[in-house]
Amino acid sequence: MRVAVVGAGVAGLGVACALGDAADVTLFERSDRPGGRAASRTADDCVYDTGANYVKSDDDRVSRLLRDELGDGLAAVEGDVWTFDADGEISEGRGDDAPKWTYREGLATLGDRLLDESGATLEADVPAETLRRGDAAWHVEDPTGRRWGPWNALVLTPPAPTTASLLDGADWQSAVRRDLREHVGHVPYRPLLSVALHYPFEVERPYYALVNDDKDHDVGWLGREDCKPGHVPDDESLLVVQMAPDWSAEHYDRADDDVAAAVADRAADLLSDDALAAPDWFDVVRWRDALPNDGADPETLRRAEDDDLWFAGDWVAGEGRVHSALRSGLDAGERIRATRSADR
Ligand SMILES: Cc1cc2nc3c(=O)[nH]c(=O)nc-3n(C[C@H](O)[C@H](O)[C@H](O)COP(=O)(O)OP(=O)(O)OC[C@H]3O[C@@H](n4cnc5c(N)ncnc54)[C@H](O)[C@@H]3O)c2cc1C
Repeated sequence: MRVAVVGAGVAGLGVACALGDAADVTLFERSDRPGGRAASRTADDCVYDTGANYVKSDDDRVSRLLRDELGDGLAAVEGDVWTFDADGEISEGRGDDAPKWTYREGLATLGDRLLDESGATLEADVPAETLRRGDAAWHVEDPTGRRWGPWNALVLTPPAPTTASLLDGADWQSAVRRDLREHVGHVPYRPLLSVALHYPFEVERPYYALVNDDKDHDVGWLGREDCKPGHVPDDESLLVVQMAPDWSAEHYDRADDDVAAAVADRAADLLSDDALAAPDWFDVVRWRDALPNDGADPETLRRAEDDDLWFAGDWVAGEGRVHSALRSGLDAGERIRATRSADR
């Protein structure tokens, strides 16, 4: 069986892992590396997670996979998550201190580990542009016009807005295509600006991160990368500040300098330390489709399976979480495997 997966985030990689030797899997990835929103960067001896902050132990299967197969370099985040409200009032704990993991070399390592584990082929820097269905097989066309395939099954894993536009432009004569495209196109995503702020001195606090629990502050999340083993040298600090969706949408297209200055001011306010308004370097990362506000209806998505088309991702799982997206990919891979074995 030959399977094409569009998107090498954790969902697409989960599909490939679950299929394993049962299929010849090719992952088409628009960017130059696997991992998707489980993303990290490095600068000046620092490593920082720019998308997901960590993966949580909320799914037994994913936790086992992480510990047993993907554990090399896995690191537990030290410290708890505290909360703050619209006035910046900080309170201890949020009753949710389950283990949280990243990798010493950044959460993007998860993508590399999953790819190795799957044995799949990664076609990096190859965006899927047009999907074609004919003679009971799928083809994928890239922007150069190259046609890849044929594939017995196709799995779409980009965020719902991108998946909807792929369905929109697909050459696929099917009664379900329009309904699917409409449905997937209505799964809402929120944007997010994630800003790394570096300081050449330590910022000591009794928590790992702060989350805004009344959703009424410009800052949504402030995390200390120093609490992740191997991420920040001693005597330095690196804050990752994720701005609230409304603030992110309003400031999305502003210059990096302006965004970083505004974000550093808010971090200084929140942590009551004027020195934090002047980081010695910063990095602004923009996520247009950062987190889904809702999920798709599984029954509607399954109507495509008669034509060997499958879906996985956080929007299929119904929450913007690494473990849920990975689980959604593993589930899709297993269903493809089971369907194909039953067909033979
Ligand atoms: C700022 C931020 C903070 C977050 N914090 C957390 C957190 O702390 N904990 C947590 O569990 N989760 C967190 N999340 C959510 C988590 O990162 C996602 O839910 C999860 O990584 C989604 O995985 P996915 O595989 O479904 O999608 P993605 O990771 O988006 O993967 C989809 C892939 O498809 C590729 N792609 C898109 N279009 C095409 C195309 N046409 N052709 C080929 N490839 C294409 C993309 O480049 C991408 O690699 C956060 C997300 C963001 C953005």
